[in-house]
Amino acid sequence: MFNPSLHIQRHQFVVDFVMKDKPKKVADLGCSDCGLLRMLKFRREIDLLVGVDVNGAKLTKKKHGLAPLSTDYLQPSFNQLCVQLYQGSVTQKDVRLRGFDLVTCIEVIEHLPLDDLDPFSEVVFGYMAPQTVIISTPNSEFNPLFPRMSGFRNSDHKFEWTRAEFQSWALKTCGEYSFKVEFTGVGKAPPGREESVGFCSQIAVFHRLAGRDGHTSGDDASNRFPYTLLYSINYPSLHDNNIRQAALVSEVLYWAEKLKKEWLDKLAEKQEEESCAEDSVRAGREHEGIFWTSGDEQECRTLHRHVSVPLHQLWTRCPKLGELTANLSNLSQIIMENPQIKTNQEGSTVILCNPEEGNKHEDEELCSLMDSGYVDAKYTDELWETDA
Ligand code: SAM
Repeated sequence: MFNPSLHIQRHQFVVDFVMKDKPKKVADLGCSDCGLLRMLKFRREIDLLVGVDVNGAKLTKKKHGLAPLSTDYLQPSFNQLCVQLYQGSVTQKDVRLRGFDLVTCIEVIEHLPLDDLDPFSEVVFGYMAPQTVIISTPNSEFNPLFPRMSGFRNSDHKFEWTRAEFQSWALKTCGEYSFKVEFTGVGKAPPGREESVGFCSQIAVFHRLAGRDGHTSGDDASNRFPYTLLYSINYPSLHDNNIRQAALVSEVLYWAEKLKKEWLDKLAEKQEEESCAEDSVRAGREHEGIFWTSGDEQECRTLHRHVSVPLHQLWTRCPKLGELTANLSNLSQIIMENPQIKTNQEGSTVILCNPEEGNKHEDEELCSLMDSGYVDAKYTDELWETDA
């Protein structure tokens, strides 16, 4: 009946809220197959993303969908996302669920026996006491629009509320725990029926009132750990020194190769422009020791078979280097210490192999070694393997 489907609309409602409100710590209670968490893990504003469900087996089965993707490793960001899954009940107090900015509870309360509603409110609004709570639940007034439906929408539902019932419970909760609430929903009724039946899923967004401390519920228990941690993962972050250095090295190598290619292309163009073949050969000889174009030719000419890319060129062309390290001299120091990058003695240029020239010379070296009758261990192994 709905496009996008109703559960996607509910999750998108939360994602839109997160984009607007930018909470850093978010917990999804009754997270089931972790669908909402999988959408939220792409929101860079979130540092801590926690899922709780009473059904631990489901969490264990679905936890892999929350692992970092290869792009998270290849292009780490500065945010420090930690994702955790707990097996536990929304009627139990666990100190690790305190201090959150946003707690969501999407299509969960109707699965709780009515007797559990008061403990639920005490746990979520009294004990966890986040800045914002988003709760969604079916709107029973919409049910007559479902053809052939009788009873509740799901056999595990303990109740389904009208808008008035939901609002009355929400307002009572606000009074008890110092919150205010707005009502909305997702899943629009057909034109002309919006007013009379309301949304298919009704949603309440609760905001903790200013002046109410997030950690006082008349219950000072701060050492409660009834939940079982089933999964915890820290996403790669550029705040981690090793990861930042690895990102810096790969950025330097990428840009050095790119600038080398640009320069070699320009050189080839220049040679092509030479009208006479004689001149072209001469120009080629002049550039035999490949070097950079801008003023460094004298120095670089000595670097036979290599291209030398000045570090200041890299610094100017790649703005990300400025995000990864404080200044050019820091960059120079880091790359000089890194075995993956070759530099000159001062660390002012990155030296790259010119593949065509390099291969040619390596082949020549190998031939002359073999001609001389002396083949070192490395080459012996390779030849032995080839013969075998
Ligand atoms: N929130 C999910 C979503 O938006 O896709 C769907 C929730 S599913 C309809 C209801 C979930 O609530 C189930 O995964 C169930 O295990 C969980 N649940 C039921 N009682 C619970 C309790 N007391 N504490 C925590 N989770 C509970």
